[in-house]
Amino acid sequence: MFYLSTRGFEENLTSSQAIIKGICPDGGLYVPSEFPNISNELSNLIALDYSQLAFFILNKFLVDFTNDELNSCLVNSYECKFKKGCIAPIVNINENFFLELYHGPTLAFKDMALTIMPHLLKTSIDKNNLNKKVLILTATSGDTGKAALEGFKNINNVKIMVFFPEKGVSSIQKLQMRTQEGNNTYVVGINGNFDDAQNGVKDVFNDNEFNQKLNSKGYILSSANSINIGRLLPQIVYYFYSYTNLVKQGNINIFDKINFVVPTGNFGNILAGYYAKMMGLPINKLICASNDNNVLYDFFSTGIYNKNRKLKLTTSPSMDILISSNLERLLFEICNRDSKTLNTLINNLNNKGYYEISDDMKVKLDSFQSEYASIEEVKTTINKVFNNYNYLIDTHTAVAYCAYEKYKEKTNDNTKTVIVSTASPYKFSKDVLNSLLEMDDNDNEFEIIKTLSNITNTEIPESIKILKDKNVIHKDVYEKNNLKVSIENFLKV
Ligand SMILES: *Cc1c(COP(=O)(O)O)cnc(C)c1O
Repeated sequence: MFYLSTRGFEENLTSSQAIIKGICPDGGLYVPSEFPNISNELSNLIALDYSQLAFFILNKFLVDFTNDELNSCLVNSYECKFKKGCIAPIVNINENFFLELYHGPTLAFKDMALTIMPHLLKTSIDKNNLNKKVLILTATSGDTGKAALEGFKNINNVKIMVFFPEKGVSSIQKLQMRTQEGNNTYVVGINGNFDDAQNGVKDVFNDNEFNQKLNSKGYILSSANSINIGRLLPQIVYYFYSYTNLVKQGNINIFDKINFVVPTGNFGNILAGYYAKMMGLPINKLICASNDNNVLYDFFSTGIYNKNRKLKLTTSPSMDILISSNLERLLFEICNRDSKTLNTLINNLNNKGYYEISDDMKVKLDSFQSEYASIEEVKTTINKVFNNYNYLIDTHTAVAYCAYEKYKEKTNDNTKTVIVSTASPYKFSKDVLNSLLEMDDNDNEFEIIKTLSNITNTEIPESIKILKDKNVIHKDVYEKNNLKVSIENFLKV
């Protein structure tokens, strides 16, 4: 097991080296050299708890980590940062299975990977005797930023900077980030959208001169975005975990196939599901759910990826993305790992803003289906699910559920289906509440939260309650082409 670049220009790395690098110097993404097949071991997995299952899966990929190293990473994440028995609960709502991935410290599914990834990185730095500090640069559409800040805060020899679109995140997301504590954290608002922030960060990674300057000051750059393989691998675990739980609860028989519906932005979450399928997890369809920024829906329907359109700001901001970075890893698989084909597609994307895949590649997309939900549909979905089942979902999960209903309507597919629930409704309280009742124009976030709790009779998560009394520490806003200046100011170099 080693890690290679999708674009084919780099030497192969060990897992710890790939985690340190984050993104390949040729602009590509690291991918594992193979997908270990676990079909024969599936029945042994039913009895495992989350950490044990994570050990089983990650051990196959992180082959240069010792058992002790991996175990210590798992203890510091899933054992410490989640309530016992509440890491990835699966809830049966009228035979729809909601996989709640938002019980971590920052209330979104990003915690599933970002509680462990800092420990994987720290271990990797130590293993490779790196005599440098690592500066993590993270572009965020709202949730990655906070989860990464929490995960990396106060970790020795690591500093973390987060860039978010000033006008593209919810007020709770913004407050969560701007109140971030820790002696190694810095949060910057960007005048631009998420793609501007992500492109800005990519440009910094590709700027050799700037990298050399940082190097001479003792820093190397890495990424906490899902372009880092250390983010992606831990996400494979909960696909297995939900499957084994459905077996345990008697909802399916072992080896039955199931579907997953995944609300998708950067294509990291659903790609982990695809990797699980490549490893032999019995998955029928992966249903890619988009919001109004439906580039991926178009891609799966036509084989054409076209980012030449205007980004819309929706009520599911964590999916307001036009360039889904991780799709490159899927393209790599469906072109039979032929970097030449892949580079042609990526060059077309960079130069013309679109590409079309070949018919052979289209055939290989048969694991996927896609649907999308508009802002209005998200609203009615939240309302309907709450009023019919007394179950409160957030805007992103509502995109997934609405997409699933459309899929079912079209296909009559009755395969048992897991709806991947990616955020707590309290992270997007204004839009959630707005779906349940006609609201006056109220901008007091904490009043909204209280009302939401009162009318739905649900508990306000502790980490939201305490936000109210926290100081805003990070107030800086930069222009989108000024990221380097903000970095120099933070590091004082
Ligand atoms: C990040 C995020 C998504 C999208 O996940 P990707 O891995 O970027 O596709 C969906 N919902 C929420 C709440 C998120 O934070």
